[in-house]
Amino acid sequence: MRTTSQLLLVVLGVTLVAQIIYGTVAYWMISGSERQNLFTQVANDAYRIAAEIDGVSIDQLANEEIAFPLLRNLGLTGSVSLFDAGDNSDVVRFGSRFVDVESQLLNTDQIRTPYQQGEVCTDRCYAWATVPAVDKQHTLLLITPEKDNVVSLGETLSMRLVSSGVIVLWIAVWAALVLSSTITKKLNAKNKALVYQALHDELTGLPNRNYLFDKMEEALSEAEEASESFSILLMDLDRFKEVNDTLGHHFGDHLLVEVANRLHHKMKKPVTVARLGGDEFAVLVPGANHKKAIEVAKTITLSMLEPVPVDGIELEISMSIGIATYPADGNEAEELLQHADVAMYRAKRSMAKYMVYESNEDGNSIRRLRIMGELRNVIENDELDVHYQPKVCLKTDRVIGMEALVRWHHPELGFVPPDEFIPLAEQTGLIHPLTDWVMQQAMKFCAQLRAEGYELTVAVNLSTFALQDAGFADELALRIVQSDLPANRLELEITESAMMTDLPTASKVLDRIVNQDVQLAIDDFGTGFSSLAYLKKLPVSQLKIDKSFVLDMVSDTNDRAIVKSIIDLAHHMDKVVVAEGVENQECLDFLRSQHCDIAQGYFISRPLPGDGLRQWLRDSPWGKAARTRDVNVIDFISGRKLHSS
Ligand code: C2E
Ligand code: CA
Ligand code: CA
Repeated sequence: MRTTSQLLLVVLGVTLVAQIIYGTVAYWMISGSERQNLFTQVANDAYRIAAEIDGVSIDQLANEEIAFPLLRNLGLTGSVSLFDAGDNSDVVRFGSRFVDVESQLLNTDQIRTPYQQGEVCTDRCYAWATVPAVDKQHTLLLITPEKDNVVSLGETLSMRLVSSGVIVLWIAVWAALVLSSTITKKLNAKNKALVYQALHDELTGLPNRNYLFDKMEEALSEAEEASESFSILLMDLDRFKEVNDTLGHHFGDHLLVEVANRLHHKMKKPVTVARLGGDEFAVLVPGANHKKAIEVAKTITLSMLEPVPVDGIELEISMSIGIATYPADGNEAEELLQHADVAMYRAKRSMAKYMVYESNEDGNSIRRLRIMGELRNVIENDELDVHYQPKVCLKTDRVIGMEALVRWHHPELGFVPPDEFIPLAEQTGLIHPLTDWVMQQAMKFCAQLRAEGYELTVAVNLSTFALQDAGFADELALRIVQSDLPANRLELEITESAMMTDLPTASKVLDRIVNQDVQLAIDDFGTGFSSLAYLKKLPVSQLKIDKSFVLDMVSDTNDRAIVKSIIDLAHHMDKVVVAEGVENQECLDFLRSQHCDIAQGYFISRPLPGDGLRQWLRDSPWGKAARTRDVNVIDFISGRKLHSS
């Protein structure tokens, strides 16, 4: 717009100046030549008069009665005087309109001589000419006023100039507009290209460091205003230099482009994915706290599992991710990036896939490093335990299953809660052997109880990563074959986010699991963001309401409403609903009144070691009721018809 108005102004200015110059020159030239014409005209008229009075004697001419009609017939606008060439005396004068001029002219000798012409100006200008007359003895002087002619000429000229000026101006404006729109378009396109170039990486097309910085500043002010958090994830490829050095830059470039594509496709708006240079990438997640950032880190890790084929070679992508979150880990863009970098290097050192920034290298992070370092041996040496928490059917008041929960009693650190070491196991990839180990223990224990007269199910928790592991279903099949437990006594609990992360892959694995007759439950239901449309399609038979809704249900009406609607939803979708975190009788009564199918929680029992559970089965009313061999629990286990029976 600015260019358009500037150009318009320039064109208008130039056109106006050109018009003025052109007008002045034209006026000057035309008026000059017109004056010349006038002189000629005056001389011609003078000759005409001289010819007209030729043959008339001077005496006759001196007689006004003869001379005046004669001259009047000529239609003259000027005045005519006759002088005697001999004594220069004034013989005759016709018309006295320009007496002043004449007397001014009479002072000069010029006008008494024939063949002269000129101009004289008083209050206005006059042209004059002298010719010989009356037998060459006399000189005739004709004076004609100029002004009338010149004025009318000026008017005509100015009218023409104005109309031509308007046309020229109109054309100029039109041309300026056309020109400016073309120029503006070209400039805009060029500017856009330049801005794009300045803010994007050439190889991958991803935003670059500058762009990321702008976005971070934006995120900072938005987060500050809304009192929200946001996270920055910094990652770089492991052993990228090796790829470049041994296979060549062509391979390196290919790898970078593939990583960029995967990141770009996995991350949806408003997430920003940027390449900071070399093998370093960053992901900015508005609104994300630590927990959400870890979910994103997991998604990224999963999306890199598939190797990249380059010229017949399969390149494994391995990367370390460092996470920093505003405001906990810093409140400036530079600071957050730096802290994400620190976290990334810690992740690299400890061979973790991702790590969250920790403000001080205190005991806490040393403890984490120690846990990570020791976990592998602990799994391999069977130093973990599995505890079991019973699940009770609310229709029959009988125990119908149990959830297996892993326990680690460290000789020096004491009890290490699963919430602490499971995420670390996920980061280091140790979650696979850990899940496998828990599964084997749980199936063995459940089979033993079965032999002892308890037809129960056992539920094992699966990590987010299990569903992205194509080999998991095969491993599961092997474990089932190796165990003495029918497959339908095994349940797997998976969180919503695990199922939703990579739905196509997850769906395949889930299908293969249920095809083996293993039951699936969605754990911590209500905390994720699963779309109900997807939920309907997933082959799960149970929804486990997250304990955060159940714990305060008795006092919190909102929680009560949520629990009620999850129960209704589950039943409408023909699924069994389990409430975990039942800590008191009121809670249990409310769940029963809402036709919840199964309950689990401290009120029924805390998670117990194998022998502890055996004791509980013998002592508790729920356990005693389950002892009877003739109870058909299969319907409860597979669940689908439970709520309608
Ligand atoms: P989760 O799957 O939601 O497990 C239920 C958690 O709730 C258990 O915590 C259990 O002890 C606790 N809980 C049960 N009833 C109550 C109650 O009435 N009140 C309260 N306040 N809590 C109750 P735990 O054993 O500390 O496990 C925490 C999480 O660690 C589990 O949450 C699960 O996500 C994970 N986890 C535990 N064992 C394994 C495992 O073998 N594999 C995997 N992948 N994750 C596991
Ligand atoms: Ca669980
Ligand atoms: Ca749970």
